[in-house]
Amino acid sequence: MNLRSICVYCGSSENVNQAYFEAARGMGQLIASKNMHVIFGGGQTGLMGAVADGALAAGGEVIGVIPEAMMLPDLAHAGLTRLEVVKDMHERKARMAELAGAFVALPGGFGTMEEFFEALTWLQLGFHGKAVGLLNIEGYFDNLLNFLQHVADEKFAYQRHLDDLAVETNINSLIKAIEAFEPPEEGGKWD
Ligand code: AMP
Repeated sequence: MNLRSICVYCGSSENVNQAYFEAARGMGQLIASKNMHVIFGGGQTGLMGAVADGALAAGGEVIGVIPEAMMLPDLAHAGLTRLEVVKDMHERKARMAELAGAFVALPGGFGTMEEFFEALTWLQLGFHGKAVGLLNIEGYFDNLLNFLQHVADEKFAYQRHLDDLAVETNINSLIKAIEAFEPPEEGGKWD
């Protein structure tokens, strides 16, 4: 797939291990080096800011999409290529999904999980055919991945839908997997 942009979901917390920040900066840089745009939530804090700064420092384009209520000097990133201000969270997620050629989640909190699961659910339903990836650095998502396997084992999800999720432990292999992704032919969940 010839990708023009990747949407990155990741944490806004500042108080996390430096290894996560490094991976986030590296992810921004890598996306920029491939001449792809970064689409993200527009924040300047935590891994979000690191992804944006990594891409901008490498000469890349970074587009943020932020709800009005979060358009505050302490939260919004002031140096983006473009910052789109939208009415609310629903509009934000729809706009990010519209701009994105693929989705990746880096370590994060509730917000990251919510965004990641929306992208994965929509892939399962055939609402989009874009790659969804998870960067499992420092084993951060090990427990979640075990649980997702349990979900499939207990037949609350099809194994093939879980297998559609690209999981890698480093940024290069994750981007490679995302680039190699072919949308499932069988279409939506109920086929
Ligand atoms: P969390 O993983 O709970 O830190 O939430 C991160 C996600 O929620 C991001 O992908 C954003 O879409 C959104 N978000 C949380 N905090 C901010 C912020 N300070 N600025 C912009 N978006 C944010």
